[in-house]
Amino acid sequence: MADCLFCKIINHEIPGSIVYEDERILAFNDINPQAPTHVLLVPKRHITSLTDLRVEDDQLVGELVRRAAAIAKERGISAGGFRTVFNTNRGAGQTVFHIHLHLLGGRNMKWPPG
Ligand code: AMP
Ligand code: ZN
Repeated sequence: MADCLFCKIINHEIPGSIVYEDERILAFNDINPQAPTHVLLVPKRHITSLTDLRVEDDQLVGELVRRAAAIAKERGISAGGFRTVFNTNRGAGQTVFHIHLHLLGGRNMKWPPG
């Protein structure tokens, strides 16, 4: 999508600090990290919000979650604990309207989140 920041990172029109890439998904470091590990995992196909998911996207979302767990394991933050978050729509803090899974870890987390 033309005006989407994450589509521009996916298309290499703006730089991203990429940690994983395959045909369907891209993972890159968050520019404003909230934990020692803060990676964003996105589908390469533009999907605006979780509220737009279709049944055909089930596998894609599963891949995002499974890849987040794999990156956590690679970074040695898996056993200690990590957090995976989709912020959906403005009230929940979504600022970029291309779905992204936050992977946060490497420090202790509080609950509930703000
Ligand atoms: P959200 O607020 O859930 O929509 O998350 C958007 C995330 O994108 C925030 O954590 C931002 O720090 C991050 N972000 C914004 N611009 C960039 C960028 N150019 N590269 C990497 N992460 C970004
Ligand atoms: Zn997009």
